Amino acid sequence: MDKMSSVFEYAPAPESRAVVDLAPSYGLFVDGEFREAADGRVFKSLSPSSEEVLAEVAQAGAADVDAAVRAARTAFTGWSALPGTERAKYLFRIARIIQERSRELAVLESLDNGKPIRESRDVDLPLVAAHFFYYAGWADKLQHAGFGADPRPLGVAAQVIPWNFPLLMLAWKVAPALACGNTVVLKPAETTPLSALFFADICRQAGLPKGVVNILTGDGETGAALVGHDGVDKVAFTGSTEVGKAIARTVAGTRKKVTLELGGKAANIVFDDAPVDQAVEGIVNGIFFNQGHVCCAGSRLLVQESVRDEVLDALKRRMSTLRVGDPLDKNTDIGAINSAEQLARITELTAAGEAEGAERWAPACELPSAGYWFAPTLFTGVTQAHRIAREEIFGPVLSVLTFRTPAEAVEKANNTPYGLSAGIWTEKGSRILWMADRLRAGVVWANTFNKFDPTSPFGGYKESGYGREGGRHGLEAYLDVV
Ligand code: NAD
Repeated sequence: MDKMSSVFEYAPAPESRAVVDLAPSYGLFVDGEFREAADGRVFKSLSPSSEEVLAEVAQAGAADVDAAVRAARTAFTGWSALPGTERAKYLFRIARIIQERSRELAVLESLDNGKPIRESRDVDLPLVAAHFFYYAGWADKLQHAGFGADPRPLGVAAQVIPWNFPLLMLAWKVAPALACGNTVVLKPAETTPLSALFFADICRQAGLPKGVVNILTGDGETGAALVGHDGVDKVAFTGSTEVGKAIARTVAGTRKKVTLELGGKAANIVFDDAPVDQAVEGIVNGIFFNQGHVCCAGSRLLVQESVRDEVLDALKRRMSTLRVGDPLDKNTDIGAINSAEQLARITELTAAGEAEGAERWAPACELPSAGYWFAPTLFTGVTQAHRIAREEIFGPVLSVLTFRTPAEAVEKANNTPYGLSAGIWTEKGSRILWMADRLRAGVVWANTFNKFDPTSPFGGYKESGYGREGGRHGLEAYLDVV
């Protein structure tokens, strides 16, 4: 595939697609079996890099939601009564199978989502396995987690996840839920259902008792039916703030416990004493990782005015070396945009950026003709009032703003309805601590960005949601405490 002009030319290095054995159609995974939707409805999952239909998938309706919740309820009795050591064995087994099948799963994720194989192979899959290993370790130690002497599970967890990290978001949700003794009904996003269905197969391979994990594919309607079902005790949602608010309204006044992981508009703050080359790598990782489809992406670059030109020159040079193209090519840095809808949203917001007076720049970049693509883009001359500085673009688009003093950096960074993450680039440890104390963001990275670890809690302030996932804190969402 033709790539943008870059410093080095690389020969194509495609990963083999043959490692994934895709069936033409998939059913819902309910009570340990794959079955068609009760009303027979289906939808197609496309490869966003080619628009090829990968498979047909069942669209779960209200009757299927009911069946899955009932299966999870029945399974809860046995699963929650198992000693933690026994639940841990299943989770360790799942983690090991994920490692064994990681090449297959990475290729599948890149096919269905459009993300570069380099990322699905080296970031997503290792983290997915790490989450299961980590929470397997907690399953028999819950009484030592700081939530009382005998913390109890909640029951049936309804989990609704987005398309940007399909298998990783599944792991963030399923692993702690099972470790704590809950059973789950999970709904993957409609554009990326396949890796969750392969995970269902892994549950069978691991001998997980039937009904402990149920997977319902479908769209927002399926998600709404699931979170609104009376038999659900806990709702865990990752996705847009708009849908998060709708879910909060649905569960208000019920006994359901809820956690919401929503959008973000993170500031990545570069001070004049930061090592420029490292900061540039951090800026690139912050916004171009996973095509910018990252809730905690560093989508607002705040650069100290005195080093603005130096940083921007280096950043543009670096952006000119990014390779956009075939997600299965091991040289690819930026893959396909996940869907036509997401591409339309990015296109609309970037057009608004230009119309409002910001200056757009992108490296010379040839994009493939089929599929959904967007060149890595940056905007300068951005003010805080611009839509591209306020709204989540969820694409490979960086808005650059400047500041003069640390106090101004804090004020601008916090001037957003969101509060999920932030980055600080400086040599001064005292300044890192001073800034981190004042930034209203759930995660603050210092001299790095987009670093994830199962031991570390993740979650937002304000419109980025509430509740924490990951680490010891992540257990609380699945235990009957307060
Ligand atoms: P989305 O909210 O449209 O969809 C997310 C999921 O919710 C999908 O599975 C969808 O089918 C389902 N859904 C849609 N309408 C629903 C309804 N009314 N009731 C129940 N479920 C419904 O979001 P998206 O476009 O898939 O994902 C992008 C968004 O997710 C971005 O805003 C991003 O910031 C956010 N996100 C947040 C995190 C985080 O951890 N905070 C992580 C990843 C993505």
